Amino acid sequence: MSQPATLSMTQPVHLCAKALDKAYRKGEHQVYVLRGVDAKLERGEFLSIVGQSGSGKSTLMHLLGLLDEPDVGEVWLDGNRIDNLPATTRDELRNHVFGFVFQFYHLLPELTLLENVLCPLMIRYSAWEYWKRRVEFRDKAKAIAKQVGLDHRLSHRPSELSGGEMQRAAIARALIGEPSVLLADEPTGNLDSQTGGEIMNLLHQLNEEKKLTIVMVTHDEKIAQQAQRIVRLSEGRIQSLNEAA
Ligand code: ADP
Ligand code: MG
Repeated sequence: MSQPATLSMTQPVHLCAKALDKAYRKGEHQVYVLRGVDAKLERGEFLSIVGQSGSGKSTLMHLLGLLDEPDVGEVWLDGNRIDNLPATTRDELRNHVFGFVFQFYHLLPELTLLENVLCPLMIRYSAWEYWKRRVEFRDKAKAIAKQVGLDHRLSHRPSELSGGEMQRAAIARALIGEPSVLLADEPTGNLDSQTGGEIMNLLHQLNEEKKLTIVMVTHDEKIAQQAQRIVRLSEGRIQSLNEAA
């Protein structure tokens, strides 16, 4: 008797890039950055993409997270094409599905840490809905700040935080919308090695305990090796490497 199909056999790949091309115009010239990038990510994976500076890592992250559109190729989420959706649907999807972490944190300097963490919910809900649920949202933001080790810094502004604390705050902001995929662009790139290691530990913890799917890009081989799976971006394409140790 044949085995019934299991969920894992029928579930589509979580996030998938198909033959992505991207070029930028620089004056008269076209700079071809991505030339047929294919990538697949299963739910719960922690993938790192390593590549030299200028190899197109940030460009690829922006395409995966719907911050930019490919010239050619497709991005799929759970079996549905998402790169060609109407702009408002893409905005909603970005807010609900993806959490972003950047090398330079991109916190808003005039807001406190708690307010920075709340930003994705301010964007998601109408002013009225947000106002009605403000206590629930603040409690949630405080709980996430605690989870990333920042509960003692809630009313501080970014200028009063260390680099590691700013990156933790950015991770908390990325988590508050309960994303399914965390896209981290050189998350340790501006940190000393010990602080970078602490941020990597936090990412591992989120991957293991919350089953958060993570794509991290980095130019740093040692950092890249710490993910579950590592691929290389080179000459505009993804090249598979051996599983990380
Ligand atoms: P990485 O993140 O790997 O350092 P990027 O994706 O930032 O690489 O950039 C890849 C190439 O594309 C670089 O040569 C960069 O100068 C160019 N580039 C990136 N963004 C733009 C842009 N908005 N306009 C023009 N060129 C760009
Ligand atoms: Mg970059």
